[in-house]
Amino acid sequence: MRDVIIVGGGASGLVAAIVAARKGTQVCIIERSNRVGKKILVTGNGRCNMTNTQITPKQYHSYDSVDIKSVLERFGYEETKNFFMELGIMPLIEGKKVYPLSEQATSVLDVLRMEIERLGVEVITDTKITEIKPKKEGWQLFSEEGQTFEAHKVIMATGGMTNTSLGCDGLGYEILKKLGHTLKTPFPILVHLLSSSPYCKMMKGTKVKANVKIFVEGKLGREEYGEVLFTEDGLSGPPIFQISRVASLAALNKQDTELTLDLFPNLSEDEMISLLYERITAHPERTIEQLLIGMLHKRVIMPVLKAAHIESIHRLLEQLEYDEVMRLVQVLKAFNFSIQGTRGYKFAQVTAGGIRATEIDFQTMASLKAKNLYITGEVMDVDGDCGGYNLQWAWATGFIAGESVSRNEDNK
Ligand SMILES: Cc1cc2nc3c(=O)[nH]c(=O)nc-3n(C[C@H](O)[C@H](O)[C@H](O)COP(=O)(O)OP(=O)(O)OC[C@H]3O[C@@H](n4cnc5c(N)ncnc54)[C@H](O)[C@@H]3O)c2cc1C
Repeated sequence: MRDVIIVGGGASGLVAAIVAARKGTQVCIIERSNRVGKKILVTGNGRCNMTNTQITPKQYHSYDSVDIKSVLERFGYEETKNFFMELGIMPLIEGKKVYPLSEQATSVLDVLRMEIERLGVEVITDTKITEIKPKKEGWQLFSEEGQTFEAHKVIMATGGMTNTSLGCDGLGYEILKKLGHTLKTPFPILVHLLSSSPYCKMMKGTKVKANVKIFVEGKLGREEYGEVLFTEDGLSGPPIFQISRVASLAALNKQDTELTLDLFPNLSEDEMISLLYERITAHPERTIEQLLIGMLHKRVIMPVLKAAHIESIHRLLEQLEYDEVMRLVQVLKAFNFSIQGTRGYKFAQVTAGGIRATEIDFQTMASLKAKNLYITGEVMDVDGDCGGYNLQWAWATGFIAGESVSRNEDNK
Protein backbone atom coordinates (compact mmCIF):
# COMPACT_ATOMS: atom_id res chain seq x y z
CA MET A 1 0.00 0.00 0.00
CA ARG A 2 1.32 3.44 -0.99
CA ASP A 3 1.39 6.33 1.49
CA VAL A 4 -0.37 8.85 -0.74
CA ILE A 5 -1.99 8.67 -4.15
CA ILE A 6 -2.79 11.93 -5.91
CA VAL A 7 -5.52 11.58 -8.52
CA GLY A 8 -4.76 14.17 -11.20
CA GLY A 9 -1.34 15.51 -12.13
CA GLY A 10 -2.42 19.10 -12.83
CA ALA A 11 -1.34 22.32 -11.12
CA SER A 12 -2.55 21.45 -7.63
CA GLY A 13 -1.62 17.77 -7.81
CA LEU A 14 1.95 18.52 -8.85
CA VAL A 15 2.51 21.02 -6.03
CA ALA A 16 0.92 18.66 -3.49
CA ALA A 17 3.25 15.88 -4.68
CA ILE A 18 6.36 18.07 -4.38
CA VAL A 19 5.48 19.33 -0.90
CA ALA A 20 4.64 15.84 0.40
CA ALA A 21 7.67 14.18 -1.18
CA ARG A 22 9.98 16.86 0.25
CA LYS A 23 8.72 15.80 3.67
CA GLY A 24 9.69 12.22 2.96
CA THR A 25 6.22 10.93 2.10
CA GLN A 26 5.96 8.25 -0.56
CA VAL A 27 3.82 9.83 -3.28
CA CYS A 28 2.27 8.48 -6.44
CA ILE A 29 0.47 10.63 -9.03
CA ILE A 30 -2.13 8.95 -11.23
CA GLU A 31 -2.91 10.97 -14.35
CA ARG A 32 -5.35 10.06 -17.08
CA SER A 33 -3.50 11.92 -19.85
CA ASN A 34 -0.23 10.75 -21.35
CA ARG A 35 1.63 13.57 -19.53
CA VAL A 36 1.16 15.48 -16.32
CA GLY A 37 0.40 19.22 -16.29
CA LYS A 38 -0.86 19.55 -19.85
CA LYS A 39 -3.29 22.30 -18.93
CA ILE A 40 -0.51 24.45 -17.47
CA LEU A 41 0.88 24.69 -21.02
CA VAL A 42 -2.18 26.51 -22.34
CA THR A 43 -2.53 28.95 -19.45
CA GLY A 44 -2.14 32.68 -20.04
CA ASN A 45 -2.08 32.11 -23.83
CA GLY A 46 0.98 29.94 -23.38
CA ARG A 47 2.66 32.48 -21.05
CA CYS A 48 1.15 31.17 -17.78
CA ASN A 49 -0.24 33.94 -15.62
CA MET A 50 0.88 32.01 -12.57
CA THR A 51 -0.19 34.36 -9.78
CA ASN A 52 -0.97 37.98 -8.94
CA THR A 53 0.76 40.46 -6.65
CA GLN A 54 -2.58 41.40 -5.11
CA ILE A 55 -4.44 38.41 -3.74
CA THR A 56 -7.38 38.79 -1.40
CA PRO A 57 -10.54 36.73 -0.78
CA LYS A 58 -12.45 39.40 -2.77
CA GLN A 59 -11.15 37.87 -6.00
CA TYR A 60 -12.66 34.47 -5.18
CA HIS A 61 -16.24 33.21 -5.42
CA SER A 62 -18.30 30.27 -4.19
CA TYR A 63 -21.97 29.30 -3.75
CA ASP A 64 -21.35 29.27 0.01
CA SER A 65 -19.85 32.11 1.95
CA VAL A 66 -16.63 30.39 2.94
CA ASP A 67 -13.64 31.98 4.61
CA ILE A 68 -10.67 31.27 2.38
CA LYS A 69 -8.42 33.88 3.99
CA SER A 70 -6.39 31.26 5.86
CA VAL A 71 -5.53 29.47 2.59
CA LEU A 72 -4.34 32.66 0.92
CA GLU A 73 -2.43 33.77 4.02
CA ARG A 74 -0.65 30.45 4.26
CA PHE A 75 0.31 30.32 0.58
CA GLY A 76 -0.18 33.68 -1.12
CA TYR A 77 1.77 35.65 -3.70
CA GLU A 78 5.08 35.76 -1.76
CA GLU A 79 5.00 32.04 -1.03
CA THR A 80 4.16 31.20 -4.64
CA LYS A 81 6.92 33.48 -5.91
CA ASN A 82 9.46 31.93 -3.53
CA PHE A 83 8.31 28.37 -4.25
CA PHE A 84 8.81 28.86 -7.98
CA MET A 85 12.00 30.93 -7.61
CA GLU A 86 13.50 28.02 -5.70
CA LEU A 87 12.59 25.83 -8.64
CA GLY A 88 14.25 28.30 -11.03
CA ILE A 89 11.38 30.48 -12.24
CA MET A 90 12.19 34.20 -12.28
CA PRO A 91 9.00 36.30 -12.08
CA LEU A 92 7.88 38.87 -14.63
CA ILE A 93 5.35 41.31 -13.23
CA GLU A 94 2.97 43.00 -15.68
CA GLY A 95 0.62 45.32 -13.82
CA LYS A 96 -0.32 42.93 -11.05
CA LYS A 97 -0.19 39.76 -13.12
CA VAL A 98 2.82 37.51 -12.65
CA TYR A 99 4.35 35.40 -15.44
CA PRO A 100 7.60 33.45 -15.70
CA LEU A 101 10.35 35.72 -17.06
CA SER A 102 10.74 33.30 -19.98
CA GLU A 103 7.09 34.11 -20.81
CA GLN A 104 6.68 30.41 -21.51
CA ALA A 105 4.23 28.21 -19.65
CA THR A 106 6.46 25.27 -20.56
CA SER A 107 9.10 26.59 -18.14
CA VAL A 108 6.62 26.33 -15.26
CA LEU A 109 5.74 22.76 -16.14
CA ASP A 110 9.40 21.90 -16.80
CA VAL A 111 10.54 22.94 -13.32
CA LEU A 112 7.63 21.14 -11.66
CA ARG A 113 8.44 17.97 -13.59
CA MET A 114 12.16 18.24 -12.84
CA GLU A 115 11.39 18.53 -9.13
CA ILE A 116 8.99 15.59 -9.21
CA GLU A 117 11.70 13.55 -10.87
CA ARG A 118 14.40 14.68 -8.43
CA LEU A 119 12.19 13.71 -5.50
CA GLY A 120 11.44 10.30 -6.98
CA VAL A 121 7.69 10.82 -7.13
CA GLU A 122 6.05 7.90 -8.88
CA VAL A 123 4.00 9.04 -11.90
CA ILE A 124 1.49 6.74 -13.58
CA THR A 125 0.02 8.23 -16.75
CA ASP A 126 -2.71 7.06 -19.18
CA THR A 127 -4.69 5.84 -16.19
CA LYS A 128 -8.16 7.14 -15.46
CA ILE A 129 -9.45 6.61 -11.94
CA THR A 130 -13.18 5.92 -12.02
CA GLU A 131 -13.94 5.02 -8.42
CA ILE A 132 -12.34 5.09 -5.02
CA LYS A 133 -13.59 3.03 -2.10
CA PRO A 134 -12.69 3.19 1.57
CA LYS A 135 -10.99 0.12 3.02
CA LYS A 136 -10.70 -0.78 6.67
CA GLU A 137 -7.49 1.19 6.49
CA GLY A 138 -6.97 3.63 3.66
CA TRP A 139 -8.35 3.54 0.17
CA GLN A 140 -8.72 1.36 -2.87
CA LEU A 141 -8.70 3.06 -6.28
CA PHE A 142 -10.04 1.55 -9.49
CA SER A 143 -9.09 2.60 -12.99
CA GLU A 144 -10.98 2.38 -16.23
CA GLU A 145 -8.09 0.31 -17.54
CA GLY A 146 -8.84 -2.37 -14.91
CA GLN A 147 -6.05 -1.69 -12.43
CA THR A 148 -6.47 -1.42 -8.67
CA PHE A 149 -4.30 0.73 -6.39
CA GLU A 150 -4.16 1.11 -2.63
CA ALA A 151 -3.09 4.06 -0.51
CA HIS A 152 -3.37 5.28 3.08
CA LYS A 153 -4.37 8.73 1.88
CA VAL A 154 -5.81 10.11 -1.34
CA ILE A 155 -5.69 13.64 -2.72
CA MET A 156 -8.37 14.37 -5.31
CA ALA A 157 -6.87 16.95 -7.67
CA THR A 158 -8.96 16.24 -10.75
CA GLY A 159 -9.81 19.83 -11.76
CA GLY A 160 -13.03 21.09 -13.34
CA MET A 161 -14.70 20.56 -16.69
CA THR A 162 -13.01 23.13 -18.92
CA ASN A 163 -10.97 22.04 -21.86
CA THR A 164 -12.21 18.47 -22.05
CA SER A 165 -9.48 17.67 -24.57
CA LEU A 166 -7.02 18.06 -21.69
CA GLY A 167 -8.67 15.36 -19.61
CA CYS A 168 -11.21 17.32 -17.61
CA ASP A 169 -14.75 15.98 -17.79
CA GLY A 170 -16.06 16.18 -14.26
CA LEU A 171 -15.36 12.57 -13.37
CA GLY A 172 -13.81 13.77 -10.13
CA TYR A 173 -17.20 15.17 -9.10
CA GLU A 174 -18.82 11.76 -9.54
CA ILE A 175 -16.14 10.01 -7.52
CA LEU A 176 -16.49 12.51 -4.68
CA LYS A 177 -20.29 12.46 -4.79
CA LYS A 178 -20.23 8.72 -4.19
CA LEU A 179 -18.17 9.40 -1.07
CA GLY A 180 -20.86 11.65 0.38
CA HIS A 181 -19.89 15.02 -1.06
CA THR A 182 -22.36 17.51 -2.50
CA LEU A 183 -21.93 18.88 -5.99
CA LYS A 184 -22.85 22.55 -6.40
CA THR A 185 -23.98 22.93 -10.01
CA PRO A 186 -20.92 23.72 -12.16
CA PHE A 187 -20.90 26.41 -14.84
CA PRO A 188 -18.24 27.72 -17.23
CA ILE A 189 -16.54 31.03 -16.47
CA LEU A 190 -13.77 33.24 -17.86
CA VAL A 191 -15.31 32.76 -21.25
CA HIS A 192 -16.81 34.65 -24.21
CA LEU A 193 -20.37 35.96 -23.93
CA LEU A 194 -23.03 35.13 -26.49
CA SER A 195 -25.22 37.93 -27.80
CA SER A 196 -28.01 37.93 -30.35
CA SER A 197 -27.29 41.58 -31.13
CA PRO A 198 -26.71 42.01 -34.90
CA TYR A 199 -24.09 44.63 -34.08
CA CYS A 200 -21.58 42.06 -32.80
CA LYS A 201 -21.32 40.46 -36.21
CA MET A 202 -21.08 43.90 -37.87
CA MET A 203 -18.13 44.80 -35.62
CA LYS A 204 -16.54 41.33 -35.65
CA GLY A 205 -12.77 41.48 -35.07
CA THR A 206 -12.87 45.10 -33.80
CA LYS A 207 -11.58 46.04 -30.36
CA VAL A 208 -12.80 49.00 -28.32
CA LYS A 209 -11.82 50.24 -24.88
CA ALA A 210 -14.96 50.55 -22.80
CA ASN A 211 -16.46 50.43 -19.37
CA VAL A 212 -18.57 47.27 -19.30
CA LYS A 213 -21.60 46.83 -17.07
CA ILE A 214 -23.60 43.64 -16.81
CA PHE A 215 -27.20 43.71 -15.57
CA VAL A 216 -29.18 40.67 -14.44
CA GLU A 217 -32.92 41.25 -14.28
CA GLY A 218 -32.13 44.97 -14.45
CA LYS A 219 -29.73 44.90 -11.50
CA LEU A 220 -26.06 45.78 -11.92
CA GLY A 221 -24.05 42.56 -11.49
CA ARG A 222 -20.50 43.71 -12.14
CA GLU A 223 -18.55 46.49 -13.82
CA GLU A 224 -15.13 46.26 -15.49
CA TYR A 225 -13.00 48.46 -17.73
CA GLY A 226 -10.81 47.23 -20.58
CA GLU A 227 -10.51 46.15 -24.19
CA VAL A 228 -13.61 44.47 -25.60
CA LEU A 229 -13.41 42.34 -28.73
CA PHE A 230 -16.50 41.80 -30.87
CA THR A 231 -16.92 38.31 -32.32
CA GLU A 232 -19.30 36.64 -34.77
CA ASP A 233 -21.59 35.55 -31.94
CA GLY A 234 -20.89 37.91 -29.07
CA LEU A 235 -18.20 39.66 -27.07
CA SER A 236 -14.80 38.72 -25.71
CA GLY A 237 -11.72 40.33 -24.18
CA PRO A 238 -10.40 40.75 -20.62
CA PRO A 239 -13.32 42.75 -19.12
CA ILE A 240 -15.79 40.33 -20.72
CA PHE A 241 -13.97 37.33 -19.20
CA GLN A 242 -14.06 39.06 -15.85
CA ILE A 243 -17.84 39.59 -15.92
CA SER A 244 -18.60 36.22 -17.57
CA ARG A 245 -19.24 34.58 -14.20
CA VAL A 246 -22.28 36.81 -13.67
CA ALA A 247 -23.61 36.03 -17.17
CA SER A 248 -23.03 32.30 -16.86
CA LEU A 249 -24.74 32.05 -13.49
CA ALA A 250 -27.65 34.13 -14.79
CA ALA A 251 -27.99 31.79 -17.79
CA LEU A 252 -28.05 28.83 -15.39
CA ASN A 253 -30.87 30.54 -13.49
CA LYS A 254 -32.61 31.53 -16.73
CA GLN A 255 -32.44 35.22 -15.84
CA ASP A 256 -32.55 38.10 -18.32
CA THR A 257 -29.10 39.54 -18.88
CA GLU A 258 -27.99 42.72 -20.59
CA LEU A 259 -24.65 44.34 -21.06
CA THR A 260 -23.81 47.95 -21.74
CA LEU A 261 -20.61 49.46 -23.08
CA ASP A 262 -19.72 53.00 -22.12
CA LEU A 263 -17.49 53.93 -25.06
CA PHE A 264 -16.45 57.22 -23.42
CA PRO A 265 -16.16 56.50 -19.69
CA ASN A 266 -14.10 59.64 -19.11
CA LEU A 267 -16.90 61.94 -20.28
CA SER A 268 -20.18 62.57 -18.50
CA GLU A 269 -23.38 62.63 -20.55
CA ASP A 270 -23.40 66.44 -20.46
CA GLU A 271 -19.79 66.59 -21.62
CA MET A 272 -20.63 64.14 -24.40
CA ILE A 273 -23.53 66.33 -25.55
CA SER A 274 -21.26 69.41 -25.56
CA LEU A 275 -18.58 67.55 -27.49
CA LEU A 276 -21.01 66.44 -30.18
CA TYR A 277 -22.41 69.97 -30.57
CA GLU A 278 -18.86 71.37 -30.79
CA ARG A 279 -18.16 68.95 -33.64
CA ILE A 280 -21.44 69.79 -35.35
CA THR A 281 -20.72 73.52 -35.10
CA ALA A 282 -17.14 73.11 -36.31
CA HIS A 283 -18.15 71.13 -39.41
CA PRO A 284 -21.80 71.74 -40.33
CA GLU A 285 -20.92 70.82 -43.94
CA ARG A 286 -20.13 67.22 -42.97
CA THR A 287 -22.70 64.43 -43.03
CA ILE A 288 -24.07 62.56 -40.02
CA GLU A 289 -22.13 59.50 -41.16
CA GLN A 290 -18.92 61.53 -40.75
CA LEU A 291 -19.64 62.97 -37.29
CA LEU A 292 -17.91 60.26 -35.27
CA ILE A 293 -14.85 59.77 -37.50
CA GLY A 294 -11.80 60.32 -35.34
CA MET A 295 -13.68 59.54 -32.13
CA LEU A 296 -14.63 55.93 -32.75
CA HIS A 297 -13.27 52.97 -34.69
CA LYS A 298 -14.78 53.18 -38.19
CA ARG A 299 -16.45 49.77 -37.91
CA VAL A 300 -18.24 50.89 -34.76
CA ILE A 301 -19.74 54.06 -36.24
CA MET A 302 -22.52 52.49 -38.33
CA PRO A 303 -23.71 50.14 -35.55
CA VAL A 304 -23.81 53.11 -33.14
CA LEU A 305 -25.88 55.19 -35.59
CA LYS A 306 -28.21 52.25 -36.20
CA ALA A 307 -28.60 51.54 -32.49
CA ALA A 308 -29.48 55.24 -32.01
CA HIS A 309 -32.13 54.86 -34.76
CA ILE A 310 -30.64 57.64 -36.83
CA GLU A 311 -31.95 57.43 -40.38
CA SER A 312 -30.72 59.20 -43.53
CA ILE A 313 -27.10 59.37 -42.48
CA HIS A 314 -26.17 61.32 -45.61
CA ARG A 315 -27.95 64.39 -44.25
CA LEU A 316 -25.78 67.35 -43.29
CA LEU A 317 -24.89 67.66 -39.62
CA GLU A 318 -26.80 70.92 -39.33
CA GLN A 319 -29.93 68.85 -40.02
CA LEU A 320 -29.32 66.57 -37.04
CA GLU A 321 -32.22 67.00 -34.60
CA TYR A 322 -31.73 67.54 -30.84
CA ASP A 323 -33.53 64.23 -30.09
CA GLU A 324 -31.19 62.43 -32.41
CA VAL A 325 -28.14 63.87 -30.64
CA MET A 326 -29.62 62.73 -27.32
CA ARG A 327 -30.18 59.18 -28.66
CA LEU A 328 -26.63 59.13 -29.99
CA VAL A 329 -25.24 60.17 -26.62
CA GLN A 330 -27.30 57.48 -24.96
CA VAL A 331 -25.78 54.79 -27.18
CA LEU A 332 -22.22 56.12 -26.87
CA LYS A 333 -22.55 56.06 -23.07
CA ALA A 334 -24.50 52.78 -22.82
CA PHE A 335 -24.38 50.68 -26.00
CA ASN A 336 -26.75 47.85 -25.15
CA PHE A 337 -26.33 44.14 -25.92
CA SER A 338 -28.74 41.43 -24.85
CA ILE A 339 -26.82 38.40 -23.57
CA GLN A 340 -27.82 34.80 -24.14
CA GLY A 341 -25.28 33.13 -21.88
CA THR A 342 -21.72 32.13 -22.57
CA ARG A 343 -19.77 29.73 -24.73
CA GLY A 344 -19.34 26.30 -23.17
CA TYR A 345 -16.65 24.45 -21.24
CA LYS A 346 -14.65 23.84 -24.40
CA PHE A 347 -13.87 27.55 -24.56
CA ALA A 348 -13.93 28.44 -20.86
CA GLN A 349 -10.83 28.76 -18.70
CA VAL A 350 -12.39 27.78 -15.41
CA THR A 351 -15.34 25.86 -13.94
CA ALA A 352 -17.26 27.61 -11.17
CA GLY A 353 -19.23 25.47 -8.75
CA GLY A 354 -18.00 21.99 -7.85
CA ILE A 355 -17.60 20.06 -4.63
CA ARG A 356 -19.15 22.02 -1.80
CA ALA A 357 -16.49 24.11 -0.10
CA THR A 358 -18.04 23.79 3.36
CA GLU A 359 -17.33 20.05 3.20
CA ILE A 360 -13.58 20.72 3.16
CA ASP A 361 -11.39 21.77 6.09
CA PHE A 362 -9.36 24.68 4.72
CA GLN A 363 -6.68 24.21 7.39
CA THR A 364 -5.74 20.84 5.90
CA MET A 365 -7.77 20.45 2.67
CA ALA A 366 -9.14 17.28 4.26
CA SER A 367 -12.61 16.15 3.34
CA LEU A 368 -15.10 16.50 6.17
CA LYS A 369 -17.07 13.61 4.67
CA ALA A 370 -14.41 10.91 4.41
CA LYS A 371 -11.31 10.17 6.43
CA ASN A 372 -7.85 10.46 4.85
CA LEU A 373 -9.26 12.06 1.74
CA TYR A 374 -8.08 15.51 0.58
CA ILE A 375 -9.43 17.83 -2.09
CA THR A 376 -7.48 20.50 -3.98
CA GLY A 377 -7.86 23.03 -6.78
CA GLU A 378 -10.66 23.62 -9.20
CA VAL A 379 -12.68 20.49 -8.40
CA MET A 380 -14.05 22.34 -5.38
CA ASP A 381 -16.60 25.13 -5.43
CA VAL A 382 -14.14 28.02 -5.28
CA ASP A 383 -13.18 29.97 -8.36
CA GLY A 384 -11.10 33.06 -8.91
CA ASP A 385 -11.20 36.08 -11.19
CA CYS A 386 -9.08 36.28 -14.32
CA GLY A 387 -5.52 37.34 -13.47
CA GLY A 388 -3.60 34.37 -12.05
CA TYR A 389 -6.06 33.72 -9.22
CA ASN A 390 -7.08 30.22 -10.30
CA LEU A 391 -3.57 28.87 -10.56
CA GLN A 392 -2.85 30.57 -7.23
CA TRP A 393 -5.75 28.62 -5.73
CA ALA A 394 -4.39 25.41 -7.22
CA TRP A 395 -0.85 26.02 -5.90
CA ALA A 396 -2.12 27.08 -2.46
CA THR A 397 -4.52 24.20 -1.90
CA GLY A 398 -1.96 21.76 -3.31
CA PHE A 399 0.64 23.10 -0.90
CA ILE A 400 -1.64 22.74 2.12
CA ALA A 401 -2.77 19.23 1.15
CA GLY A 402 0.84 18.21 0.54
CA GLU A 403 1.79 19.32 4.04
CA SER A 404 -1.28 17.72 5.62
CA VAL A 405 -0.82 14.26 4.13
CA SER A 406 2.73 14.26 5.41
CA ARG A 407 1.63 14.59 9.01
CA ASN A 408 1.28 11.39 10.91
CA GLU A 409 -1.67 12.34 13.03
CA ASP A 410 -5.18 11.51 11.95
CA ASN A 411 -6.30 14.48 9.88
CA LYS A 412 -10.01 14.02 9.97
C1 LIG B 1 -7.13 27.91 -21.69
C2 LIG B 1 -6.90 28.12 -20.22
C3 LIG B 1 -6.10 29.16 -19.79
C4 LIG B 1 -5.94 29.38 -18.42
N1 LIG B 1 -5.10 30.39 -18.03
C5 LIG B 1 -4.92 30.62 -16.71
C6 LIG B 1 -3.99 31.61 -16.27
O1 LIG B 1 -3.27 32.22 -17.07
N2 LIG B 1 -3.91 31.84 -14.93
C7 LIG B 1 -4.65 31.14 -14.01
O2 LIG B 1 -4.54 31.40 -12.83
N3 LIG B 1 -5.47 30.14 -14.40
C8 LIG B 1 -5.61 29.86 -15.71
N4 LIG B 1 -6.42 28.83 -16.10
C9 LIG B 1 -7.09 28.02 -15.06
C10 LIG B 1 -6.10 27.02 -14.43
O3 LIG B 1 -5.39 26.34 -15.44
C11 LIG B 1 -6.84 26.00 -13.55
O4 LIG B 1 -7.65 26.67 -12.62
C12 LIG B 1 -5.87 25.09 -12.80
O5 LIG B 1 -5.08 24.37 -13.72
C13 LIG B 1 -6.63 24.11 -11.90
O6 LIG B 1 -5.71 23.23 -11.31
P1 LIG B 1 -6.19 21.81 -10.79
O7 LIG B 1 -5.00 21.13 -10.27
O8 LIG B 1 -7.35 21.95 -9.93
O9 LIG B 1 -6.73 21.07 -12.10
P2 LIG B 1 -6.05 20.78 -13.50
O10 LIG B 1 -4.84 21.63 -13.68
O11 LIG B 1 -7.14 20.87 -14.48
O12 LIG B 1 -5.57 19.28 -13.36
C14 LIG B 1 -6.43 18.21 -13.21
C15 LIG B 1 -5.73 16.97 -13.71
O13 LIG B 1 -6.46 15.83 -13.30
C16 LIG B 1 -6.49 14.91 -14.36
N5 LIG B 1 -7.65 14.04 -14.15
C17 LIG B 1 -8.95 14.43 -14.13
N6 LIG B 1 -9.75 13.41 -13.83
C18 LIG B 1 -8.94 12.34 -13.63
C19 LIG B 1 -9.18 10.98 -13.29
N7 LIG B 1 -10.42 10.52 -13.10
N8 LIG B 1 -8.11 10.13 -13.18
C20 LIG B 1 -6.83 10.60 -13.38
N9 LIG B 1 -6.56 11.87 -13.71
C21 LIG B 1 -7.59 12.73 -13.83
C22 LIG B 1 -6.56 15.78 -15.60
O14 LIG B 1 -6.14 15.09 -16.77
C23 LIG B 1 -5.65 16.93 -15.23
O15 LIG B 1 -4.31 16.70 -15.61
C24 LIG B 1 -6.58 28.55 -17.47
C25 LIG B 1 -7.35 27.47 -17.91
C26 LIG B 1 -7.51 27.24 -19.27
C27 LIG B 1 -8.35 26.07 -19.73
